[in-house]
Amino acid sequence: MKLYTAQQIRDWDKYTIKHEPIESIDLMERAATKLTDWYLENCSDYRNISIFCGIGNNGGDGLVMARLLSNEQFDVKVYVVHFGDTPSADFTENLEHLPKKINCSHIKEVADIPDLEEDTVVIDCIFGSGISRPPKGITLDVITTINQSKKPVISIDIASGLYTDHYSTHFNSIIEADITLSLEVPKLSMLFPENEKNVGELHIVKIGLDKNYAQETTSKFYFTTSQSAHKIYKPRKRFDHKGKFGHVLLVGGSKGMIGAIQLATRSALRSGTGKTSVIVPSCGYEILQATCPEAMCIADPSRNHIVASTLLKPYTAIGIGPGIGKHEQTKKAIRSIIEDADKPIVLDADALNLLSENKEWWDIIPENSILTPHVGEFERLADIHFINSFDRLEAASKMAQDKKVIIILKGANTAVCLPNGEIHFNSTGNPGLAKGGSGDALLGIITGLLGQKYKPFEAAILGVYIHGKAGDYASSQMSIESVTTSDVIDNIGKVFLGF
Ligand code: ADP
Ligand code: ADP
Ligand code: MG
Repeated sequence: MKLYTAQQIRDWDKYTIKHEPIESIDLMERAATKLTDWYLENCSDYRNISIFCGIGNNGGDGLVMARLLSNEQFDVKVYVVHFGDTPSADFTENLEHLPKKINCSHIKEVADIPDLEEDTVVIDCIFGSGISRPPKGITLDVITTINQSKKPVISIDIASGLYTDHYSTHFNSIIEADITLSLEVPKLSMLFPENEKNVGELHIVKIGLDKNYAQETTSKFYFTTSQSAHKIYKPRKRFDHKGKFGHVLLVGGSKGMIGAIQLATRSALRSGTGKTSVIVPSCGYEILQATCPEAMCIADPSRNHIVASTLLKPYTAIGIGPGIGKHEQTKKAIRSIIEDADKPIVLDADALNLLSENKEWWDIIPENSILTPHVGEFERLADIHFINSFDRLEAASKMAQDKKVIIILKGANTAVCLPNGEIHFNSTGNPGLAKGGSGDALLGIITGLLGQKYKPFEAAILGVYIHGKAGDYASSQMSIESVTTSDVIDNIGKVFLGF
């Protein structure tokens, strides 16, 4: 699924109006009907509703919702916030059609702002994705009052005040929603950690915008949904044999960190590799043999660290880094593996930190290799500390393009930055994954997929999706506090069942 700018979303409305064709007022009616249906299905116990409407189309959606909810016998009050502009035509028409029984008041100055009743739910339709400057004056006063009231807030399309496709610095002038009902697609800014308190729980409400628009419109931002993951997935055939699914090599571990490479190995095994080999320091050899009987294990000559390179020819993909450490001899071994590699490799953890400390390694990393830094590791690679996540994302995308590698910037809504400039945000995962060992599982899954001849960009996008989805299954069975990486690995198989 593509993500769009505010301008593109406006164009998408217009395109739908022209090509379906549908009158814009009817499109507004359809959107508000879908939003009302969502409310009826999920919040019908909350009978007392205060709808705050601006005078643009977002406010128009709110007026239609007021009419529809009032028809369902909810106790609805409407507050129209006047911010000076000319009201939109569809807003004006819906205001004329607002049933008399709905109490509608107008807010033009601070004295007009109501005290909100104890049990009311606020529906926020002040500004939609059309916002172009920080709220000021009366709109800012209303936003502040709603935030201070601590009433539950549902924002329609986007929290009022939040920019759609770029960074908002006016943190205190934005609605803090408990729930956002984003129309048709998520908006880019909803995926930034800084905006978590404005977005709340994110739900997408489909309003039937024309599907052809998506095909005709370019965007560098994508959202990996279950459908997009499904399209990448390659099903198996009856006469397939293990030779078709590659031979993966994982390199990692050091004394006290054998668990990391073990988790990566188990994850690769669950991701469908034909054959899996793992190189560990000799202190980890018996552990790996005993706990991963399906994998072939090679003991490094050194007891506590990886010190030796190896012949890479037999392997279809190589993943390096889990628990590997930064010992001087390890550094030499990793460098030599990277130099010998003649196809894309996967690098994580201390393999990335060593790259940060030895920038000349960039010249020997094969094109289309996959790097999986978390924010800290990325900032070490980039040598800059970013104070906002949008700038950090742009830097990751630039690095991917300049160095011709795939940078997977990990975290909630992990961003997969491709060398062609595309950025694919993940839709799966939860804070149950915020645990030591979780990244090791990701490296195992991605290397496993890469070894099976998924293209590097497919292995990266699909691997991140599978990892997050396995985490979602794990946390549907227990609390997010209790989920361990082993639980995540145990659920990888369930994700494949869903394809
Ligand atoms: P649209 O009508 O474009 O769907 P909205 O309901 O969000 O979207 O209304 C946007 C309107 O509000 C536009 O006319 C825009 O000029 C105006 N606007 C944008 N930002 C502000 C602001 N901070 N304060 C007041 N008006 C704004
Ligand atoms: P480690 O090195 O300890 O294994 P990393 O930080 O490298 O851990 O990786 C953590 C993994 O967990 C990443 O895939 C990241 O995207 C995921 N993750 C962390 N926090 C969250 C979160 N809040 N929501 C979703 N995924 C998360
Ligand atoms: Mg890690």
